[in-house]
Parts: sequence; C-alpha cells; structure tokens
Amino acid sequence: MSDSPILLTPGPLTTAIETRRAMLRDWGSRDPAFIALTAELRARLLRVANGQGTHAAVPLQGSGTFIVEAAIATLVPPAGKMLVLVNGAYGERMVNIARRMGRNVEALRWPEDRPVEPARVAEALRTDPGITHVALVHCETTTGILNPLADVAAEVAGAGRALLLDAMSSFGALPIDLAAVPVAAVLASSNKCLEGVPGLGFALVRPDVLEAAAGNSSSLSFDLHAQWRGFEGDGQWRFTPPVQVVAALVEAMRALEAEGGPTARHARYQDNFDTLLVGMRRMGFTLFLDQAVQAPIIATFHLPDDRGLAFRPFYDALAARGFLIYPGKLTQAETFRIGCIGALHRRDFERLLQAVSETLAVLEAA
Ligand SMILES: *Cc1c(COP(=O)(O)O)cnc(C)c1O
Repeated sequence: MSDSPILLTPGPLTTAIETRRAMLRDWGSRDPAFIALTAELRARLLRVANGQGTHAAVPLQGSGTFIVEAAIATLVPPAGKMLVLVNGAYGERMVNIARRMGRNVEALRWPEDRPVEPARVAEALRTDPGITHVALVHCETTTGILNPLADVAAEVAGAGRALLLDAMSSFGALPIDLAAVPVAAVLASSNKCLEGVPGLGFALVRPDVLEAAAGNSSSLSFDLHAQWRGFEGDGQWRFTPPVQVVAALVEAMRALEAEGGPTARHARYQDNFDTLLVGMRRMGFTLFLDQAVQAPIIATFHLPDDRGLAFRPFYDALAARGFLIYPGKLTQAETFRIGCIGALHRRDFERLLQAVSETLAVLEAA
C-alpha cells in the first residue's frame, strides 16, 4: 500500500497490489495473448452473474457512465420509451442521458431514503403500454440504498418489457443470478466491487436483445451492437483498448474467484460495514438510511450540525491521516459518505475509526 491513501470513495477505490502490478507490462492489442485475455475477461464477467448460458459480455472503454450511455443509445430504439425508476442521482443521470439523445423517457420517483416499490412499477406499466424498457439502479450509490431487483424484474418481465439494470456498485458482491432473474442488460464497471482500476465499463446483454438493436445507436463509439459484433468476429476491440485496465481487471477477477466469489466478497463488505457502523455510532454519528434498506456498499452518515463539524475540515484531517472519504450527494440532508468496498478489511476500518476519533478530538477542541 505504501504511500497510497485508503480510498473510501468508490470509485476509484483501493486496489490490491497484485492488481496494480498486473499493469506493468505492455500488450499488443491485436496480439493473440491479448485476444485471449479479452476472452477470459468476457467469460469471467458472465460467470460472476451466472449469465454464461443466457447473456453476452460487451466491454467498452470509459467510465461507468459511458456504458450506461452506450446501453441506452443501443438498446432503447428511437421509437421506444424508457421508464426510469429514480431514488437517487444515478437514476436521474439515466433520465438525463436519455433526454440528451432524444429518447422518449419518463421517470417514476421515490424519496432518496425509500426503495423502489414493485407495485408502483407494475401500475405504471399497466397505465402506459407505450413503455418498452424499464431502467433500475440496483444499489443507489447516492445513499447506499438497495432496490428490490428480483421483484422489480418479475413485474417488468411479467408485463413483457425489457429491464436495464445499472449494477455499477453491486456487481461482484451483491447477488445477481441471470439464470433466475429476467434482466435484458446488466451494466457495471471495472472500478467498484470487482476491485479493478478505472477505465472500463461493460454490459451483459441477451444476444437476442443485441441482435434486435442493430442500427439503433446514432453514435459510432457508443454502439454496443457494433462492439459485440467486433468481439464475436475476431475477438478484438474495435478501437484502442485500455490494455493495462483489462489486465488489471482480469487479475482482480482471478482474485475474486480465489476469495470465494461474490458471496465471500459480500460477507467481507458486510463485515467492513458492520465494523464501521458500530464504531461511528459509538462516536455519536447516525446512519441516514434505515438499516433494513441499506446495502453494505457505501454508508451515508448525517453530519451533526450541533457539534460544529463541517465537511471540509473533517475531510482534510482524515486525509492527513491517509483516509479519503466522500462528500454527501443528497439534495436534502447534510451528510458524508464512507465506502465499504475495495481491497479493504475490518482492520482498515478499525484504523479509520481511530483516525475519526483523533480527528473529532482535535476539531471539537478547536
Ligand atoms: C459509479 C456509478 C456509476 C458510474 O459512474 P462513473 O463515475 O461514470 O464511473 C453509475 N451508476 C452507479 C449506481 C454508480 O455507483
């Protein structure tokens, strides 16, 4: 770890030294060794979500938002209509993306501390037969709230519509079983629960859905159908791949398998979260969400105004001790966030709690 800070800011997040070391060689993008690495990447991505029999993996250069944009451009046809289920900033972003590209889009909204309600989704689909696609954020990283994937997926499939799932901050840790849960496309990125470095997003899409999406995208780069065709044709990326990012992600996914897969990773993150919550509560902080709807990915805490604690000095003092936290992203309450994901263990959170305790002693004495 040496002089790297501990990143509690997913993402990017703290990565294992082996993952970073995997970036130390150069790869020819059209060389058989890199084509094999790409094939391993695509196969491993499918296995994480049990999608090897039903879906195809389509990686794309860029941050997570890039894959969301490419998926909407490709999978929602110009004559289609997307319903976005919104209870945070990432849902709003999907509405924004669809509007920008001139797609027909509507939002169904909930407060930031309330999960999406499947019954309201079913009702909306009954009321508007024009809706062709529904978009859901699995874990809304805005707060850390978990949305009920299986129940929403059942309503959407039952109504004969296609579900696009932003699983950016859940993929690799929270369970997603594509053999059991009907999802047309899952979207995620390299630098969250897979614990890779940033630079790559990917979609797991049903091949029939990709097939039907030819020609939908008005963008050359953000075209998942063309990107998929490229991989299926010669195993190569259409445009310069982020070769080191791919190498790091494959290494990180081998480590995920060695750890025991998403189940073991989920358990480690839960332990991180529980350690954090107990310690923060002891110091008088309160969790923004009801624990019943909280995923162990990122914790949002109230910034207590009665203690004269402002975010900036709190952030700076923790940064000086080697920990980078996240500001809140809420429209209503004064909050800050601490990520529980990354190559981090309980002992890292115990050290963080010590640093928070020292920080409070200094700031509250001032
Ligand atoms: C991180 C994240 C994204 C993508 O964000 P980028 O900054 O573009 O990588 C999208 N949706 C969710 C839920 C996320 O957590």
